[in-house]
Amino acid sequence: MRRLLFVIVCAALASVCRTPEPPASSPVPDLDPRITTLLGSISEERLEAMLQKLVSFETRHLASDPSPAGQGIGAAREWMLQELTSFSPKLQVSFDTYRIPPQGGRILRDVELRNVMAVLPGRSPRRIYVSGHYDSLARLVNPPASAGPPGPAGMHWNVPDSPAPGADDDGSGTVLTMELARVFAESGLEFDATLVFICWAGEEQGLIGSAAHAQNLVAAKATVEALFNNDIVGNSHGGNGVVDAESVRVYAVGPEDSTPQLPLCRPCQPFAMCAP
Ligand SMILES: [Zn+2]
Repeated sequence: MRRLLFVIVCAALASVCRTPEPPASSPVPDLDPRITTLLGSISEERLEAMLQKLVSFETRHLASDPSPAGQGIGAAREWMLQELTSFSPKLQVSFDTYRIPPQGGRILRDVELRNVMAVLPGRSPRRIYVSGHYDSLARLVNPPASAGPPGPAGMHWNVPDSPAPGADDDGSGTVLTMELARVFAESGLEFDATLVFICWAGEEQGLIGSAAHAQNLVAAKATVEALFNNDIVGNSHGGNGVVDAESVRVYAVGPEDSTPQLPLCRPCQPFAMCAP
Protein backbone atom coordinates (compact mmCIF):
# COMPACT_ATOMS: atom_id res chain seq x y z
CA MET A 1 0.00 0.00 0.00
CA ARG A 2 2.81 2.43 0.88
CA ARG A 3 4.36 2.10 -2.58
CA LEU A 4 0.99 2.88 -4.15
CA LEU A 5 0.60 5.90 -1.90
CA PHE A 6 4.07 6.95 -3.01
CA VAL A 7 3.03 6.84 -6.68
CA ILE A 8 -0.04 8.98 -6.07
CA VAL A 9 1.74 11.49 -3.87
CA CYS A 10 4.58 11.86 -6.38
CA ALA A 11 2.24 12.25 -9.31
CA ALA A 12 0.07 14.80 -7.55
CA LEU A 13 3.04 16.83 -6.42
CA ALA A 14 4.68 16.72 -9.83
CA SER A 15 1.50 18.01 -11.35
CA VAL A 16 0.32 20.62 -8.94
CA CYS A 17 3.17 22.19 -7.00
CA ARG A 18 4.51 25.49 -8.16
CA THR A 19 7.10 25.81 -5.43
CA PRO A 20 10.87 25.94 -6.04
CA GLU A 21 12.96 22.82 -6.32
CA PRO A 22 14.60 21.70 -3.06
CA PRO A 23 18.10 23.06 -2.42
CA ALA A 24 21.08 21.00 -3.48
CA SER A 25 22.03 20.61 0.18
CA SER A 26 18.86 18.61 0.87
CA PRO A 27 19.75 15.62 3.09
CA VAL A 28 17.97 13.32 0.62
CA PRO A 29 18.98 14.87 -2.71
CA ASP A 30 17.15 12.35 -4.88
CA LEU A 31 13.83 12.71 -3.14
CA ASP A 32 11.74 15.86 -2.95
CA PRO A 33 11.45 16.67 0.78
CA ARG A 34 7.80 17.53 0.28
CA ILE A 35 7.21 13.94 -0.80
CA THR A 36 9.15 12.66 2.19
CA THR A 37 6.98 14.74 4.50
CA LEU A 38 3.74 13.60 2.89
CA LEU A 39 4.72 9.94 2.98
CA GLY A 40 5.80 10.26 6.59
CA SER A 41 2.39 11.62 7.48
CA ILE A 42 0.52 8.56 6.21
CA SER A 43 -0.77 6.42 9.04
CA GLU A 44 -1.10 2.71 8.38
CA GLU A 45 -2.94 2.43 11.70
CA ARG A 46 -5.49 5.01 10.58
CA LEU A 47 -5.93 3.23 7.23
CA GLU A 48 -6.65 -0.04 8.99
CA ALA A 49 -8.98 1.57 11.55
CA MET A 50 -10.98 3.30 8.82
CA LEU A 51 -11.25 0.06 6.85
CA GLN A 52 -12.48 -1.80 9.93
CA LYS A 53 -15.09 0.93 10.42
CA LEU A 54 -16.27 0.71 6.82
CA VAL A 55 -16.65 -3.05 7.08
CA SER A 56 -18.68 -2.66 10.28
CA PHE A 57 -21.57 -1.15 8.31
CA GLU A 58 -22.12 -4.67 6.91
CA THR A 59 -23.18 -3.49 3.47
CA ARG A 60 -22.68 -0.38 1.37
CA HIS A 61 -24.88 -1.57 -1.47
CA LEU A 62 -26.35 1.39 -3.34
CA ALA A 63 -29.91 0.16 -2.80
CA SER A 64 -29.50 -0.95 0.82
CA ASP A 65 -31.80 0.63 3.38
CA PRO A 66 -30.16 3.98 4.21
CA SER A 67 -32.14 4.60 7.40
CA PRO A 68 -30.70 2.28 10.12
CA ALA A 69 -28.20 3.78 12.54
CA GLY A 70 -24.80 2.18 12.23
CA GLN A 71 -25.68 -0.08 9.30
CA GLY A 72 -25.99 0.20 5.55
CA ILE A 73 -24.89 2.75 3.00
CA GLY A 74 -26.61 5.69 4.73
CA ALA A 75 -24.68 5.25 7.95
CA ALA A 76 -21.46 4.59 6.04
CA ARG A 77 -21.60 7.78 4.00
CA GLU A 78 -22.56 9.87 7.04
CA TRP A 79 -19.52 8.52 8.89
CA MET A 80 -17.27 9.24 5.90
CA LEU A 81 -18.58 12.80 5.70
CA GLN A 82 -17.94 13.39 9.39
CA GLU A 83 -14.50 11.80 9.25
CA LEU A 84 -13.36 13.90 6.29
CA THR A 85 -14.77 17.03 7.89
CA SER A 86 -12.78 16.34 11.05
CA PHE A 87 -9.48 16.12 9.18
CA SER A 88 -8.95 19.79 8.32
CA PRO A 89 -10.89 23.04 7.95
CA LYS A 90 -9.16 23.38 4.58
CA LEU A 91 -11.23 20.54 3.17
CA GLN A 92 -14.60 21.49 1.67
CA VAL A 93 -16.58 18.33 2.39
CA SER A 94 -20.00 17.60 0.92
CA PHE A 95 -22.33 15.03 -0.54
CA ASP A 96 -22.59 15.05 -4.33
CA THR A 97 -26.19 13.83 -4.59
CA TYR A 98 -28.32 12.47 -7.43
CA ARG A 99 -31.70 10.74 -7.82
CA ILE A 100 -31.25 7.62 -9.91
CA PRO A 101 -34.34 6.05 -11.55
CA PRO A 102 -34.69 2.28 -12.09
CA GLN A 103 -32.61 1.08 -15.01
CA GLY A 104 -31.55 -2.19 -16.54
CA GLY A 105 -31.32 -5.17 -14.23
CA ARG A 106 -29.04 -3.48 -11.73
CA ILE A 107 -31.19 -0.72 -10.21
CA LEU A 108 -34.72 -1.91 -9.52
CA ARG A 109 -36.12 1.12 -7.72
CA ASP A 110 -35.59 4.84 -7.45
CA VAL A 111 -32.54 5.47 -5.24
CA GLU A 112 -30.68 8.43 -3.85
CA LEU A 113 -27.00 8.27 -4.75
CA ARG A 114 -24.43 10.28 -2.80
CA ASN A 115 -20.78 10.54 -3.74
CA VAL A 116 -18.71 11.79 -0.79
CA MET A 117 -16.40 14.61 -1.82
CA ALA A 118 -13.62 16.60 -0.15
CA VAL A 119 -12.15 19.50 -2.12
CA LEU A 120 -8.79 21.06 -1.25
CA PRO A 121 -8.85 24.38 -3.11
CA GLY A 122 -5.72 25.40 -4.99
CA ARG A 123 -4.68 28.65 -6.55
CA SER A 124 -6.34 27.71 -9.82
CA PRO A 125 -9.66 26.00 -10.62
CA ARG A 126 -8.05 23.21 -12.65
CA ARG A 127 -8.71 19.94 -10.92
CA ILE A 128 -6.84 16.73 -10.14
CA TYR A 129 -8.94 13.88 -8.74
CA VAL A 130 -8.08 11.03 -6.37
CA SER A 131 -10.93 8.54 -6.01
CA GLY A 132 -12.20 5.15 -4.93
CA HIS A 133 -15.71 3.70 -4.70
CA TYR A 134 -17.27 3.06 -1.34
CA ASP A 135 -20.31 1.09 -2.47
CA SER A 136 -20.18 -2.70 -2.30
CA LEU A 137 -21.93 -5.74 -3.76
CA ALA A 138 -22.78 -9.22 -2.49
CA ARG A 139 -21.60 -12.50 -3.89
CA LEU A 140 -23.91 -15.18 -2.50
CA VAL A 141 -23.22 -18.90 -2.32
CA ASN A 142 -26.92 -19.75 -1.95
CA PRO A 143 -28.85 -16.77 -3.32
CA PRO A 144 -32.63 -16.54 -2.90
CA ALA A 145 -34.75 -16.97 -6.01
CA SER A 146 -35.48 -13.24 -5.93
CA ALA A 147 -31.79 -12.55 -6.55
CA GLY A 148 -32.09 -13.61 -10.16
CA PRO A 149 -29.12 -14.86 -12.13
CA PRO A 150 -25.68 -13.73 -10.95
CA GLY A 151 -23.61 -11.28 -12.90
CA PRO A 152 -19.89 -11.47 -13.61
CA ALA A 153 -17.83 -13.25 -10.91
CA GLY A 154 -21.05 -14.45 -9.26
CA MET A 155 -22.11 -11.01 -8.06
CA HIS A 156 -25.75 -10.24 -7.27
CA TRP A 157 -27.24 -6.78 -7.72
CA ASN A 158 -30.74 -7.53 -6.45
CA VAL A 159 -30.09 -8.48 -2.84
CA PRO A 160 -29.26 -5.04 -1.44
CA ASP A 161 -29.48 -5.88 2.25
CA SER A 162 -27.31 -9.02 2.19
CA PRO A 163 -23.91 -8.72 3.85
CA ALA A 164 -21.41 -7.07 1.52
CA PRO A 165 -18.54 -5.77 3.67
CA GLY A 166 -16.40 -4.86 0.64
CA ALA A 167 -13.07 -4.58 2.42
CA ASP A 168 -11.02 -5.07 -0.74
CA ASP A 169 -13.57 -3.88 -3.27
CA ASP A 170 -13.37 -1.10 -2.60
CA GLY A 171 -12.99 -0.26 1.05
CA SER A 172 -9.24 -0.29 0.38
CA GLY A 173 -9.43 2.43 -2.26
CA THR A 174 -11.92 4.39 -0.17
CA VAL A 175 -9.71 4.64 2.90
CA LEU A 176 -6.69 5.41 0.72
CA THR A 177 -8.60 8.33 -0.79
CA MET A 178 -9.68 9.54 2.65
CA GLU A 179 -6.19 9.27 4.12
CA LEU A 180 -4.65 11.19 1.23
CA ALA A 181 -7.27 13.91 1.72
CA ARG A 182 -6.10 14.21 5.32
CA VAL A 183 -2.39 14.12 4.50
CA PHE A 184 -2.57 16.70 1.71
CA ALA A 185 -4.86 19.03 3.69
CA GLU A 186 -2.67 18.91 6.79
CA SER A 187 0.60 19.21 4.86
CA GLY A 188 0.86 22.99 4.93
CA LEU A 189 1.87 22.82 1.26
CA GLU A 190 0.33 25.21 -1.20
CA PHE A 191 -0.93 23.73 -4.44
CA ASP A 192 -1.69 25.35 -7.73
CA ALA A 193 -4.31 22.82 -8.79
CA THR A 194 -7.49 22.13 -6.85
CA LEU A 195 -7.36 18.59 -5.45
CA VAL A 196 -10.61 16.64 -5.33
CA PHE A 197 -10.80 13.53 -3.15
CA ILE A 198 -14.01 11.72 -3.95
CA CYS A 199 -15.54 8.40 -2.97
CA TRP A 200 -18.01 7.22 -5.58
CA ALA A 201 -21.28 5.35 -5.08
CA GLY A 202 -23.02 3.24 -7.70
CA GLU A 203 -19.78 1.93 -9.18
CA GLU A 204 -21.04 -1.63 -8.96
CA GLN A 205 -24.17 -0.73 -10.92
CA GLY A 206 -22.08 0.57 -13.81
CA LEU A 207 -20.11 3.66 -12.73
CA ILE A 208 -23.38 5.50 -12.07
CA GLY A 209 -22.04 7.98 -9.49
CA SER A 210 -18.91 8.96 -11.37
CA ALA A 211 -20.83 9.29 -14.65
CA ALA A 212 -23.33 11.67 -13.04
CA HIS A 213 -20.49 13.73 -11.58
CA ALA A 214 -18.70 13.81 -14.94
CA GLN A 215 -21.83 15.09 -16.65
CA ASN A 216 -21.91 18.00 -14.21
CA LEU A 217 -18.24 18.73 -14.89
CA VAL A 218 -18.90 18.82 -18.62
CA ALA A 219 -21.87 21.14 -18.15
CA ALA A 220 -19.75 23.42 -15.97
CA LYS A 221 -16.86 23.30 -18.47
CA ALA A 222 -14.57 22.36 -15.57
CA THR A 223 -10.94 21.55 -16.32
CA VAL A 224 -9.90 18.13 -15.05
CA GLU A 225 -6.26 17.31 -15.71
CA ALA A 226 -6.04 13.84 -14.17
CA LEU A 227 -7.84 11.26 -12.09
CA PHE A 228 -6.15 8.58 -10.02
CA ASN A 229 -8.80 5.96 -9.32
CA ASN A 230 -8.08 3.26 -6.77
CA ASP A 231 -10.13 0.07 -6.95
CA ILE A 232 -8.88 -2.87 -4.86
CA VAL A 233 -5.46 -1.66 -3.74
CA GLY A 234 -2.67 -2.64 -1.38
CA ASN A 235 -2.94 -6.42 -1.64
CA SER A 236 0.31 -8.14 -2.53
CA HIS A 237 -1.42 -11.53 -3.00
CA GLY A 238 -2.94 -11.96 -6.46
CA GLY A 239 -5.97 -14.10 -7.19
CA ASN A 240 -3.69 -16.33 -9.26
CA GLY A 241 -1.48 -17.06 -6.27
CA VAL A 242 1.32 -14.71 -7.25
CA VAL A 243 2.76 -12.74 -4.32
CA ASP A 244 4.43 -9.45 -5.22
CA ALA A 245 4.87 -6.61 -2.75
CA GLU A 246 7.34 -4.67 -4.89
CA SER A 247 5.23 -3.59 -7.85
CA VAL A 248 2.40 -1.21 -8.55
CA ARG A 249 -0.05 -1.75 -11.37
CA VAL A 250 -0.97 1.46 -13.14
CA TYR A 251 -3.71 1.21 -15.71
CA ALA A 252 -4.59 3.93 -18.15
CA VAL A 253 -7.32 3.95 -20.75
CA GLY A 254 -7.64 6.88 -23.15
CA PRO A 255 -8.05 9.64 -23.94
CA GLU A 256 -5.83 9.75 -26.97
CA ASP A 257 -3.00 11.43 -25.05
CA SER A 258 -2.85 8.63 -22.46
CA THR A 259 -1.62 5.34 -23.83
CA PRO A 260 -3.52 2.27 -22.57
CA GLN A 261 -1.18 0.04 -20.64
CA LEU A 262 -1.22 -2.95 -18.37
CA PRO A 263 2.23 -2.84 -16.88
CA LEU A 264 3.90 -3.68 -13.64
CA CYS A 265 5.83 -0.74 -12.26
CA ARG A 266 8.95 -2.30 -10.86
CA PRO A 267 9.99 -0.23 -8.14
CA CYS A 268 9.30 3.33 -9.12
CA GLN A 269 12.49 5.05 -8.02
CA PRO A 270 12.01 7.78 -7.17
CA PHE A 271 8.99 7.96 -9.43
CA ALA A 272 8.26 6.98 -12.97
CA MET A 273 4.92 6.33 -14.58
CA CYS A 274 5.15 3.05 -16.42
CA ALA A 275 6.28 3.46 -19.97
CA PRO A 276 4.06 1.87 -22.60
ZN1 LIG B 1 -14.44 -2.10 -7.36
